[in-house]
Amino acid sequence: MNMTILNLLYLLAAVLFILAFKMLSTPRRAIFGNLIGSMGMFIAVVATVLYYGFANIATVLSGIVVGGFIGALMALKVPMTSMPQMVAILNGLGGGASMMVSGISLIESIEIARTDLSTDYIASVIAGGIIGAVTLSGSLVATAKLQWHRIERPVMFKGIHILTAALLTLSVGLGILIPYTKSVNTFWLMSAVALALGVFLVLPIGGADMPVVISLLNSYSGLAAAATGFVLRNSMLIIAGSLVGTSGIILTNLMCKAMNRSFINVLLGGFGSKVIESQDIYQGRIKRASAEDVAELLRSARKVVIVPGYGMAVAQAHYPLKELVGILESRGIEVDFAIHPVAGRMPGHMNVLLAEVGIPYEKMKGLDEINPAMEQVDVAIVVGANDVVNPYAETDPKSPIYGMPIIQVYKARTVVVIKRSLASGFAGIPNPLFTYDNTLMYFEDARKAILDIIAELKSG
Ligand code: NDP
Repeated sequence: MNMTILNLLYLLAAVLFILAFKMLSTPRRAIFGNLIGSMGMFIAVVATVLYYGFANIATVLSGIVVGGFIGALMALKVPMTSMPQMVAILNGLGGGASMMVSGISLIESIEIARTDLSTDYIASVIAGGIIGAVTLSGSLVATAKLQWHRIERPVMFKGIHILTAALLTLSVGLGILIPYTKSVNTFWLMSAVALALGVFLVLPIGGADMPVVISLLNSYSGLAAAATGFVLRNSMLIIAGSLVGTSGIILTNLMCKAMNRSFINVLLGGFGSKVIESQDIYQGRIKRASAEDVAELLRSARKVVIVPGYGMAVAQAHYPLKELVGILESRGIEVDFAIHPVAGRMPGHMNVLLAEVGIPYEKMKGLDEINPAMEQVDVAIVVGANDVVNPYAETDPKSPIYGMPIIQVYKARTVVVIKRSLASGFAGIPNPLFTYDNTLMYFEDARKAILDIIAELKSG
């Protein structure tokens, strides 16, 4: 295969990647978008193998088979609530691969081909090595924080930001020394320092901010791949890496906006290190409800809005919710879902789960659509959500979530909050909604609660 055909195939793959991104922006076409993206990657890999020849085909194939098997197994086994960890690991491995490829290319240039090290080549090797290493270690720390809740709190100590600045300076300094020492060991030392940098960059960030960090690390993995593309002079890697890099930055920005946090505020960390005692505001002001009470309310309702949150995902309550919607609609009650952009623990978390059980996309309303109609809602059922319905976001300027748009369930005639206790959500703050006159608290696991409400409705 000649260079022209290779470049044409790369162009085709790049177009497919861009189409895939476009489709991934709407839940309805996301699965097809994923397939289109995979097809683009398949074309890119086959074209590369055909162009560079079959000399190392056994190694390439064994890598694809072993990696593909492990990847497929992980994807099949991972529960939806652990998806952020899975994405973090994949980002980390991408970064690690970029670091290794940059190092191996350097071994080839210095020790085998003994070529002159041009400035642009060295700059790409440094970028691939440092960004790749930061992505690898940072992603592993992020995965650990998400997986083991005991270690999710921000780790802060005096001078941590000075330490990270020093590690960054040291790693770049070592990178600049590579052409002078002409030693691959300088590269590995630079990468080791960058690995430490990744650890100290992510340690101060709380587990709850991890999805934002993961999205940022995703972007880094793309940038590392693009740098590796310059190292290998491979246009496909440059294009694919840049696409991942820029889309990751856009997503990070969107998530920060939806949480009303600045990007710098997330990166400096420390958020969530103080647990605010939440019990005081609730003393003597909580009204409890049972499945029977909720069923009674629903029987006389005409318009119901369901607000899902992280607890719905944990309890897997979306399965019985589908049945509840069916029962209510069969009785002429209008039911909608109100989806907050940062409900759950990853963008689109609620949409994906609800779509999985066949809730039509038309029923999933965003903030702008649902809030103006909230006063006409008879019953708002909050299923395992907390921060996304917390009125402090509108009323308390001292609150960490102040300014975040919320789903204004408090405007509905009656609000039923289903959760297991008065425990706070991700932001670690109390929620005055639980004390409002029109709020009823139903303390139960979300799945069991919905099943019990269904049983009550069926029996009445
Ligand atoms: P929250 O984390 O605010 O609250 C979830 C609530 O679910 C908890 O208070 C918990 O209360 C309850 N819960 C947990 N398990 C169960 C269960 N089995 N049954 C019933 N309830 C349960 O979730 P929200 O979705 O309201 O808000 C998401 C938060 O995550 C926001 O603060 C957002 O900023 C943040 N975030 C979201 C990201 C995203 O991309 N979606 C990214 C980064 C952060 P209890 O223990 O009493 O049951």
